[in-house]
Amino acid sequence: MKTLRDINFNHKKALVRVDFNVPLDDTFSVTDNTRILAAKPTIEKILNDGGSVILMSHLGRPKGKEDKFSLRHIVPELEKVLGRKVRFINDCTGEDVKKAVAGLKPGEVLLLENLRFHPGEKQGDENFAKALADIGADYYINDAFGTAHRAHASTAVIARYFDKEHKAPGILLEKEINSIRKALDKGQKPVTAIIGGAKVSSKIGVIENLLNKVDNLIIVGGMAYTFLKALGNKTGDSIVEDNKLDLAKRILKEAEEKEVKIILPVDLVVADKFSNDAQTKIVDVHHIPDGWQGLDIGPKTRKLIDEVIQNSKTIIWNGPAGVFEFDNFAKGTEQIGLSIGKASGNGAYSLVGGGDSVAAVKKLGLTDKISYISTGGGALLEMLEGKDLPGIVALSD
Ligand code: AMP
Repeated sequence: MKTLRDINFNHKKALVRVDFNVPLDDTFSVTDNTRILAAKPTIEKILNDGGSVILMSHLGRPKGKEDKFSLRHIVPELEKVLGRKVRFINDCTGEDVKKAVAGLKPGEVLLLENLRFHPGEKQGDENFAKALADIGADYYINDAFGTAHRAHASTAVIARYFDKEHKAPGILLEKEINSIRKALDKGQKPVTAIIGGAKVSSKIGVIENLLNKVDNLIIVGGMAYTFLKALGNKTGDSIVEDNKLDLAKRILKEAEEKEVKIILPVDLVVADKFSNDAQTKIVDVHHIPDGWQGLDIGPKTRKLIDEVIQNSKTIIWNGPAGVFEFDNFAKGTEQIGLSIGKASGNGAYSLVGGGDSVAAVKKLGLTDKISYISTGGGALLEMLEGKDLPGIVALSD
């Protein structure tokens, strides 16, 4: 596969799939420009070579052409980030777009309208992909890691219409792949993964793949209760997937066979209702009272996890340790962020991904401490599952 650095874009036009699916407020201002900043190195490399850039992205989940999902809203923020003028066109295929592309001069940036205004985008429609490939770009660059696990028209199918010499991953996509592989396949031992979140069912594939890769697997969040119940504990009103108890037992057995240490909570913060205002108490895992539910890990567990993390050379974290949205149950998640920050400061390699974990790291001001913060949610999980992502495969075919 070519890399962006192998290509000289002088007087060339590059069609770049970016992930500008950014949050907007009521006045359509961008409230978090992380994804725009993440695409900047690729855009700048092409412009600095003397090329021009055509940007395409999705925004939200529009049903047809809904103005509130127009990418026009992000132009001011994009101009601010790039420090240059950005032209916008209110479609992504067709004659007007071709004309706009033909008129692009070196150093110019053109932003196309939301790809998902066309149903063909999500359907991976060949005709739509071909129409995108036909707007007049010399190169196709995919820098949208966040959608690389989808075989959509602009993320995978379009790549068929560019030969190997004329397509490549962008700098962000390449960095994501390398960072994830560095942690997952080339991680210095001991390797520890911390997996949290609501349900085991959504992360079975991740857990199973990690059993082949890590020395320690820390299971926290809602999914821990299915494991605790499988081990014979009473779990009160805690979130449990009763149809996954056998799976949890199988995972625990497999971990033993593979000599992977599974770390589950030893104590919990339990609440009498699912609310930030609930009454709380700290109990050990064998004593969850009837009618109460575990919403965070307790202090002994925080300490135990910290010790494992401090003794690790590679750390992978995805998913909160508790109901992090409620301040009173955010301590476990925050402690994991702090522990990883500290271990990274002492030389460990750390990879953090997923909305809640990244939000925790940002809230604690630890972004600079973490070795790599992934911009992917679903895409990261699929990489952690060991799957090949269609958006990446398509670049080498
Ligand atoms: P996921 O999208 O699978 O990573 O799950 C994230 C969600 O898990 C967050 O919204 C958390 O509030 C939720 N969660 C974490 N711990 C618990 C828990 N103990 N009980 C219920 N929900 C939880």
